[in-house]
Amino acid sequence: MAYIAPIARLVEHFRRLPGIGPKSAVRLAYYVIKMDNSQASALAEAIIYAKERVGYCSICFDLTDSDPCQTCRSEGRDQTVVCVVEDPKDVTAMERTREFKGLYHVLHGSLSPLEGIGPDDIRIKELLDRVRLGVQEVIMATNPNVEGEATAMYIAKLLKPLGVKVTRIAHGLPVGGDLEYADEVTLSKALENRREM
Ligand SMILES: [Zn+2]
Repeated sequence: MAYIAPIARLVEHFRRLPGIGPKSAVRLAYYVIKMDNSQASALAEAIIYAKERVGYCSICFDLTDSDPCQTCRSEGRDQTVVCVVEDPKDVTAMERTREFKGLYHVLHGSLSPLEGIGPDDIRIKELLDRVRLGVQEVIMATNPNVEGEATAMYIAKLLKPLGVKVTRIAHGLPVGGDLEYADEVTLSKALENRREM
């Protein structure tokens, strides 16, 4: 079915969003058309504002609207413990547990030879640089799937010679799952029961 051009354009953009199939894209496009003008403008502005204001923290590479981010700047956090995660969404998941009081390091992906993602494609070098500045423990909290485990092992090997304690969050997380979908209790337990690598 062909849509008039402005709607087709909207549908096309919505279809590119993660988790949005063709039917949802059409539903969203029609929803936008039905919005009143102020609502539609507010949505468009919110997208532009977020794109302009949000960047990466130059220390931990989490998303932030100020650099360094609030967590890296906080005096109440333990600067000697760094929790390594794959994605900014995982930081949010860890923060929800309210258990972790250290800092984070966001890799922005995991090693995946099949997808051609190697060590230079994620923020490993930056992590090593940070660890050299007095970090005492690095907690590997990459996802409990094949790529996440391989990434944790690879980084642990690089960190060991630097004399830092490297731990891996415990299993009990759904295997093959994503950290961001784990509930707070499971994640707290996984953190508490971390083991040395
Ligand atoms: Zn930061």
